[in-house]
Amino acid sequence: MSGSAVKLVFGSLKDGFHDLDYHLTTDFFEEIDQSLILNGDVQVLLKVERSERQLSLDFKLEGWVEKSCDICLSRLEYPIKTQQFLHVKITDKEMDDEVDLIAIGSNEYELDLTSHLFDYVALALPMKVECKDSLNREACDEEVLSMLSAEEEENDNSNHPEWKKLKEIFKN
Ligand SMILES: [Zn+2]
Repeated sequence: MSGSAVKLVFGSLKDGFHDLDYHLTTDFFEEIDQSLILNGDVQVLLKVERSERQLSLDFKLEGWVEKSCDICLSRLEYPIKTQQFLHVKITDKEMDDEVDLIAIGSNEYELDLTSHLFDYVALALPMKVECKDSLNREACDEEVLSMLSAEEEENDNSNHPEWKKLKEIFKN
């Protein structure tokens, strides 16, 4: 495999079912222009059903990725386990891509799966990723949390000197 792009070379696949596998590691996540996922190790099992005018792709992803906790910013490993489907029409007609349906020209022989696989990994993560969802930790870093809440207090206007003065005035 050259570079870290993940390609499905379907040109040589005969009609019927085929089992393929890919392994997404550091190179894969580093080469994509994104800052969400820092590292990872995800196994991809792909079942392809090839017919003359279309491909049905059934992906199973399992592994882990390293990313920052959305609350305390600790770098932790989060489990990934998901299944996704993608239908590929082989056609020269203009067609709008949909989430799980794309078109590819009849003179193509390979399909770049990189962005699809990255999206599947990203979608497998919770909307808000916290330490408790990780493989390494049960809760957020207490020290960081107390630092964050101290910072918040500092930014809180009620402790501003002017505001304190006002409060004194109201008291009297
Ligand atoms: Zn955390």
